[in-house]
Amino acid sequence: MRSLSTAVFALIACLLPALRAESLPSLTVLLSVEGNASASALKELKYELNSIMKDSGRTLDVRLREQAGPTETFEDVVLVKLKGTCKMEHLIPFMDERGPLAWTHSTDGTILPFAEVSCDRIANAIAGALWGGERKEADKLLGRALGRVLAHELYHILGKTHEHNTDGSVAKEALSAKQLISNKRLAFDVRDLNRMTP
Ligand SMILES: [Zn+2]
Repeated sequence: MRSLSTAVFALIACLLPALRAESLPSLTVLLSVEGNASASALKELKYELNSIMKDSGRTLDVRLREQAGPTETFEDVVLVKLKGTCKMEHLIPFMDERGPLAWTHSTDGTILPFAEVSCDRIANAIAGALWGGERKEADKLLGRALGRVLAHELYHILGKTHEHNTDGSVAKEALSAKQLISNKRLAFDVRDLNRMTP
């Protein structure tokens, strides 16, 4: 009996972050697209980001920056610059450049609500991981990768943390190209969600 009540308590404790998060402000993500972008990649980016962020308990509104009104106000907003070409123009790795797939900015150690994502580096990373029929939906898979990378940056911004999680979480320090495009869901764990809850 005792072990049963412990199990029930543990389950309730696991659910707490999601319940507490219900009253969190909604989050608007405004995307600035610097170069050429595939409509299919942008659509999948929004789908994937919504799917991952759903666990945070926030209502998410992802749209292009030009779709925001000049005097519009937001409960909470993050600006995202998509740099380079957000389209799979090459189905084999096309550059040697190494570097972060995305990054945030800080002032005096405080992370600002502004992220930059390198479409070129992400496209290059996944080009080498596409297999067989995946090549036919390369732009869609690029969008999935962009959504996962962006969710990772939102974790840093909302959690106000530079720390990372371990394997299996989208808040892991480095995500492999396979993890970025895999059909297997990539999500936050309870620890990540607690960090993102004020
Ligand atoms: Zn990180």
